[in-house]
Amino acid sequence: SGEGGALIVIGAGHAGTELAVQAREAGWPGAIRLVGDETALPYHRPPLSKAYLAGTATLDSLHLKARATLEKAGVELLQGRRVQALDPAARRVAFEDGSSIGYARLALATGGRPRPLPAAIAGAAEDADNFHYLRTLADVDRIRRHFAPGARVAIVGGGYIGLEVAAVAIKAGLKVTVLEAADRVLARVTAPRVSSFYEQVHREAGVDLRIGVQVDGFELDAARRRVTGVHCADGERLACDLVIVGIGIVPNTELAAAAGLAVDDGIRIDACARTSDPHIVAAGDCTRFDSALYGRSVRLESVPNALEQARSAAAALLGHERPFEIAPWFWSDQYDLKLKMVGLSQGHDQFLLRGSVEQRSFSAFYLKGERVIAVDTVNRPAEFMLARRIVGERRVIPPERLVDDGAPLKSLLQEALPL
Ligand code: FAD
Repeated sequence: SGEGGALIVIGAGHAGTELAVQAREAGWPGAIRLVGDETALPYHRPPLSKAYLAGTATLDSLHLKARATLEKAGVELLQGRRVQALDPAARRVAFEDGSSIGYARLALATGGRPRPLPAAIAGAAEDADNFHYLRTLADVDRIRRHFAPGARVAIVGGGYIGLEVAAVAIKAGLKVTVLEAADRVLARVTAPRVSSFYEQVHREAGVDLRIGVQVDGFELDAARRRVTGVHCADGERLACDLVIVGIGIVPNTELAAAAGLAVDDGIRIDACARTSDPHIVAAGDCTRFDSALYGRSVRLESVPNALEQARSAAAALLGHERPFEIAPWFWSDQYDLKLKMVGLSQGHDQFLLRGSVEQRSFSAFYLKGERVIAVDTVNRPAEFMLARRIVGERRVIPPERLVDDGAPLKSLLQEALPL
C-alpha cells in the first residue's frame, strides 16, 4: 500500500545490509529502503585494519553484496543520506535536508563510532590532517596516504584495532609505537598470558610497544595542520608523522533515545531483536540484550553478532520468532597469527592453556566453576569450531583433559555432558 508498506533500514553496514536482504527473503512484500550515511557500496569492515590497509585487498573484494544482488532483492539503497530524527508516532524518518519518508516497519542498524579521546587531550589535533580514528573506508583511505616506509606512526590504544594496524604498519616499513594506557594489551578481552604473548610478538616484529602510558596531549606544527608529537603523562615526548587512535567505540543510539526507545549503552532489544517499539527492530553494534548464556546484559561488537541479529530482526518483521543467541565470537589477524575467540571471559576464575605458546599454536580456556565460558584459539581453526560448541552448549570437560594436547578435543566433546 504505497509508502505505508515500506520497510526502512537505517545504517548500511553488516547488520543493515543483511537485514534488508533477509527481510525480502523472508517475504517482506513492500518497498525496502536501506539508508546509509556513507557513500561507498556497503562493505566488510574487518579488512580495513588488515588486508585493505596493507594494500592486498581491492575495494571490489570488500563489498558485502553486489549492487545487482540488492537490486534483485528489490532493496533500494539510499547512499550518503543521514537520518536526523525518528517520529515513531507518525512512523516517519527525517533526513538532514528536511525531507522525510514514512514506514510500516523500521530497523535500526546504526552501529557505532570511534570513542573519541577527551577534548582536553585531543585539542586541536582532532582537526589535523595526520590524526585519525579508524572506522570507515574513508578513514582508511586517508590513513593510507600517510602510510609511507620510514614514517613514524603513533598508535593510541593496544586493542584489536591498534594491534592489527601495528602489524600492518611494521610490515609496510613504518616506525611504529603503540601507546596503551592499561598495564597490558588486549586487557578487556584476554588473560594476562595471552596479552604477554601478543606483546612479545609485536616487540619481536619491531614495534615499540609501551604499556601503562597515558597520552595527555599533542604537539602541532605552526600552521596547526599536522601533529608533530605526542605527549605522555610521564613527561615523555614522541615525535611522529601520523597518529591513529583506536580506543573503542560508542554505540550510535541517539536517534533511538530521542525517539523514546529503551536505550542503555545500546538500543535495548529482546531475544528476537525487537525494540521497545512494536514497529521497530534493531541489530548489530548499536544494540544491547540480555544474554541467557551469561546471565547479564551485553553489547557485542562483532560481525557474526551483527549478521545473526539481522536475521532475527528480519524474521521478527514478518511476525516470526527467531532468537539470535549464539555464543559470541570474534577474530583478529596479526602477522601469521589467526586469533579466534568464542564467549566472554569476564568473571572467569580459572585459566588453562592447551598447546604451545612458543610454537604459536594454542588454545586458552576460561572457566567459571566447572563451565568453560570462553576460549581463545591461536592458529587452531579446528579447535575453534569445537570450542564454539563447548561454550555454546555449556559442556563440562575436566580441566586435566582440556590441557591434554594429546587427546583430541573432539573426543572430549563426545564424552562431555551438558551442564
Ligand atoms: P556498522 O558497521 O558500524 O554500520 C553502521 C552504519 O550505519 C555505518 O555505515 C554508519 O555510518 C551508518 N549510520 C549510523 N547512523 C546513521 C544515520 N543516522 N543515518 C544513516 N546512516 C547511519 N569484527 C569482527 O567480528 N572481526 C574482526 O576482525 C573485526 N575487525 C574490525 C576492524 C575494524 C577496523 C573495525 C572498525 C571493526 C572491526 N570489527 C570486527 C567489528 C565489526 O566491523 C562490527 O562489529 C560490524 O561492522 C558491526 O556492524 P553494524 O552493521 O552493526 O555497524
